[in-house]
Amino acid sequence: MIDHATIDRIIDAAEISDVVGDFVTLRKRGVNMLGLCPFHNEKTPSFTVSPAKGIFKCFGCGKGGNSVNFIMEHENLTYPEALKWLAKKYNIEVQEEEETEEQKQLKDSRESLMIVSGFAQKYFTRYLWEENEGRTIGLGYFRERSFRDDILKKFEVGFAPDGKTPFTEAAQRQGYKLDFLEKTGLTIKRDDWLRDRFAGRVMFPIHNLAGRVIAFGGRILTNDKKTAKYLNSPESDIYHKSRVLYGIYQAKREMTRTDKCYLVEGYTDVMSLHQVGIENVVASSGTSLTPDQIRMVRRFTPNITIIYDGDAAGIKASLRGIDMVLEEGMNVKVLPLPDGEDPDSFAKKMGASGFQEYMEQNETDFIQFKTRLLLKSTENDPVAKARLISDVIRSVSVIPDSITRSVYIKECSRLLGVDEEVLYTEVRKQKHQQTEEFRKREFREQSRRQAAPPQPVQEEPVARPVRLLVEELEFLRFLLKYCTSDLYEEEDEETHETRTLSVGEFMIDELEADELVSENALFKKVFYEVRENLYKENFDPWKHFVYHPDASMSKFATDLLSEKYTESKRWTKAGAFTEKEEDILDVLIPRIVNEYKLRKIKMMMAEIEKAIDKAAADNDFDRVIEEQSIYMNLKRAEKELAKSLGSRTIN
Ligand SMILES: [Zn+2]
Repeated sequence: MIDHATIDRIIDAAEISDVVGDFVTLRKRGVNMLGLCPFHNEKTPSFTVSPAKGIFKCFGCGKGGNSVNFIMEHENLTYPEALKWLAKKYNIEVQEEEETEEQKQLKDSRESLMIVSGFAQKYFTRYLWEENEGRTIGLGYFRERSFRDDILKKFEVGFAPDGKTPFTEAAQRQGYKLDFLEKTGLTIKRDDWLRDRFAGRVMFPIHNLAGRVIAFGGRILTNDKKTAKYLNSPESDIYHKSRVLYGIYQAKREMTRTDKCYLVEGYTDVMSLHQVGIENVVASSGTSLTPDQIRMVRRFTPNITIIYDGDAAGIKASLRGIDMVLEEGMNVKVLPLPDGEDPDSFAKKMGASGFQEYMEQNETDFIQFKTRLLLKSTENDPVAKARLISDVIRSVSVIPDSITRSVYIKECSRLLGVDEEVLYTEVRKQKHQQTEEFRKREFREQSRRQAAPPQPVQEEPVARPVRLLVEELEFLRFLLKYCTSDLYEEEDEETHETRTLSVGEFMIDELEADELVSENALFKKVFYEVRENLYKENFDPWKHFVYHPDASMSKFATDLLSEKYTESKRWTKAGAFTEKEEDILDVLIPRIVNEYKLRKIKMMMAEIEKAIDKAAADNDFDRVIEEQSIYMNLKRAEKELAKSLGSRTIN
């Protein structure tokens, strides 16, 4: 338990923009600050921090709260844990009783795994500096590679004693449960046989963003061919390889300050660069980059430079993964090192200023680099060259920004000796495919947003006799505009003859069959007038309503058809909608109808909820049950509609 006075001190110290700033790059926007939300994936910032109010709020995903809430959410902590986290950050002493055995067990498993990992790190580090074996072998290794002590301490490296179970025994003596030792992978357990996983290895702890140890990498120093040189912790509840970047905790501040991130491969590469003063560096630890890792970097900076070892073999294989980085809207550069050098050796050889200088002079734009590299291997081979072009174009086409894209096209045209126009055509082709994908996604998201509680249309200065809902307006607009257009062919169940169903027939049938025609007077008037005239020859709904004898009706129809207040979110929002609506009526019309229905059903449900409350208050239980059964039916219908809206896609 933490006493109130201490809690007050923590809350006073934990200034919101400072707390959030450890994880999110914030830019001033008036009195507030703005950044990319760490809780959902976004490319344009909607995450706002108000230092004056001491709160954060994301207008994308809705998350919000004070600095303690932020840490709870971000670090997945309980309230007291978040307070302790902040106390540590601001050097506020928290008086707490020693943990008993029982309390150790009670902590939830995740926290236990972190505690065990933290203990292991301290144990390994102490062993490296204080024990004979650690000093001779472990420290000897680092000294031989001329790492300075301050760097070793910064990365909390250590040494795991050789032998069967010296570490496991030490941990158990301290009261750490075997279960957690096994779950973190520190101890290997087979039946009644135990072994330290990392025995005799130099240890590199892997920290999460908040600086807590969640896993280890261990390097063996003997030249035994049978054992892997590097061994990593297995995946666990606290360690997911694809979501972790080595060095991110030590790099995050510098990444924000320099607005740039260097990517290398190994643990010692990261450490060597820190030693020459380059601190905005992380390692993917051997695997190719994952989207989660890219997003983690993008929270701090959109600029990433990938440093490659001198040997070209590995480069080509990892090129493929980079399209993904481009796709996230990041600026990718590449820095190849001279043959035979890795970042570790090269940084040591060149020293701080030499390395910095080399980086500035040799950093190449990724697309240029890729083009040149592939070009070398396709000389005199037209088929390979054609493949190369489409390969490079694929990389260009995923870049979200069109100006950047056109710069690349110009550059590629020069490098490849291909006409710009040809490249543009290729990009358009590729983009078209990607747009299809985007549109499918967008439709799914749209319907998710539709499920939000309904809001009435904003009153506008336009004279409108009756207030209509967005869905009603949209329904009427499509009904009037495309009433007589063909929708699709329908087969008669008995005669098996096909006939063409018009938009008007479909829309009217759908609402009548479900008894969902709006009670709104204006809506009803338009709806039933269309139905009355639908089968009349030469019925032109536009003419019929625009020249209507009833002036209010005429005005309404004019406004509706001139799309004065039907600039619906669908059309203004999704820039990717290039099709004209009349070309995709078969998709749009059922959608509009379903959105209308969903809205109506939600409103009916809200009414019934009130009725149930009232009946319950009156102790009229028969009525409660009756209303509840209606409610359940609507709920089912609602679910069906939401599902159909969610799964609908354009072909
Ligand atoms: Zn968000």
